[in-house]
Amino acid sequence: MERFAILTLCFFKAAVFADDSADGLGLKAAVEAQQHAYCPYSDYPVGAALVGASGKIYTGCNVENASYGLCICAERNAVFKAVSEGEQDFTTIYIITKDGGVSCGACRQVLYEFNPKIRIVAADDALNLHCDTTLDVLLPHAFGPKNLQ
Ligand SMILES: [Zn+2]
Repeated sequence: MERFAILTLCFFKAAVFADDSADGLGLKAAVEAQQHAYCPYSDYPVGAALVGASGKIYTGCNVENASYGLCICAERNAVFKAVSEGEQDFTTIYIITKDGGVSCGACRQVLYEFNPKIRIVAADDALNLHCDTTLDVLLPHAFGPKNLQ
């Protein structure tokens, strides 16, 4: 049943948010962050824009390294930037990739730490929407802070 829910919430849809709505501004910030991606090995630039409860947007891009294990994803880059600047409550994360790919498992886990129900919006370079759902759908039965109490 949960698998069906995932399939119905992550879909291909030609939707453009090129406007001044909250979604439009979030995606625009993610696109700008994507321009800074350092990805000479994967050629898969990613931009993320993480919206804090304060309304502030924290951006991140993927940063690769010749020692592959040291690479960092755009989403985690944005989360760590936000936390280092004093914010820990997040409402939405916008992600831009060439194919609309959604966050990897490691990033889902890091996002779960701060908001198990954060909204995740993923679009491709042309701003076609590929996914608009919440983290609890993408990472069911997650391990988190409650397990360590
Ligand atoms: Zn990731």
